[in-house]
Amino acid sequence: MNRAKSEQLFAEALNYIPGGVNSPVRAFRAVGGQPFFVNKAKGASVWDVDGNEYIDYVGTWGPAILGHANPKIVKAIQETAEQGTSFGIPNPLEVKMAKLVCEAVPSVQKVRMCNSGTEACMSAIRLARGFTKRDKIIKFDGCYHGHADSLLVKAGSGALTFGHPDSAGVPAAFTQHTIVLAYNDEDAVKAAFAANKNEIAGIIIEPVPGNAGLYLPKPGYLEFLRTITQEHGALLIFDEVMTGFRLSLGGAQKLFGITPDLSCFGKIIGGGLPVGAFGGRSEIMDYLAPLGPVYQAGTLSGNPLAMAAGITILEELQTSGAYCKLEEIAEQLKAGMKEAARAANIPVWFNSIGSMFCAYFTSTPVHNLADAMSSDRERFKKYFHGMLNEGVYFAPSQFEAGFISVAHYPEVIERTVRAAHKVMKQL
Ligand SMILES: *Cc1c(COP(=O)(O)O)cnc(C)c1O
Repeated sequence: MNRAKSEQLFAEALNYIPGGVNSPVRAFRAVGGQPFFVNKAKGASVWDVDGNEYIDYVGTWGPAILGHANPKIVKAIQETAEQGTSFGIPNPLEVKMAKLVCEAVPSVQKVRMCNSGTEACMSAIRLARGFTKRDKIIKFDGCYHGHADSLLVKAGSGALTFGHPDSAGVPAAFTQHTIVLAYNDEDAVKAAFAANKNEIAGIIIEPVPGNAGLYLPKPGYLEFLRTITQEHGALLIFDEVMTGFRLSLGGAQKLFGITPDLSCFGKIIGGGLPVGAFGGRSEIMDYLAPLGPVYQAGTLSGNPLAMAAGITILEELQTSGAYCKLEEIAEQLKAGMKEAARAANIPVWFNSIGSMFCAYFTSTPVHNLADAMSSDRERFKKYFHGMLNEGVYFAPSQFEAGFISVAHYPEVIERTVRAAHKVMKQL
């Protein structure tokens, strides 16, 4: 595959942008080689600047659940832009968006928009601390909640991929109130509450962790977290930046029947524009400025273009039967990939839920970060590049989930599975 123009652009980018990229995972450092540059995306495909087409399972890291460049979203952005791109004054789309979110996610009575998932999680933590008047928080290793200081401890995603799950530049004093525990381990949570009586403001968790690959909560685990936080007067914060509006319109919480106190959103809610949001019970949300003492703000928060894109994607998800379609597509992909691994006699542990999936090269189950770390990452690298050369783009790290969109039609999955058969045999 000729990628001459991408190579040239990357060489130039390295001179002006640290590592040549504006977000670390894009740099391909975990898999070796160089990233390609994309200037067009449509449906399930992206095209690089050399004209190569790739079937895309990254979906701009989550938002592209309707496929790339969905015509309704593009039109909404165009029409809204004609009226002005930012006001810094309340606009009607903010109200429409807030109503949509509150209707889709029952635990959310009020919601505040911001500009990224990072902001949403950072603000939700501050709010939980302000509301409970406690400092400590619990997070789980391998879970990623954006790059705010107090959350960059044993973090997933790029932080994990590049061996810096605890970032330099974060004073120890900033993370001393962050307690990090293993995911899916109830005893660890019980012990933490026992050792920190009346000090824990809340637990923040990806209800389905998708930043160390993908693994699922053990039966009863999320229910347990709900109960123990309630018993101790702590808040349960679901970081649904990835799972929100993806696993169902009401996110993972709807699927598992859990009511968290606060929820964080991002990715899909912006329809491909930079958006985040956090919301929850009114009693807690009203602690935010201007009503309450917890400060949080944003010049571009509630931006009309972002609201227009987000509203369009949420309405489309609500009415188009997307989740049923996604289930069918995911089933086809899962069966095909498992068969490709079996035919090549390669041990693969395939985790999936709804339209999210991850293949680990191991024969043992993956329930947490330690299990994920024990998979064969050298084999993943070969698999990644093999698939890329066949025109199939998975995330360039073992520690990222794959995403399916409604535009991954059966023939697209068939092409993917054919490529997997070929590549698996060469591993
Ligand atoms: C992507 C992600 C974030 C961070 O969102 P950004 O928009 O990249 O800041 C936070 N939490 C989870 C679970 C994520 O997947």
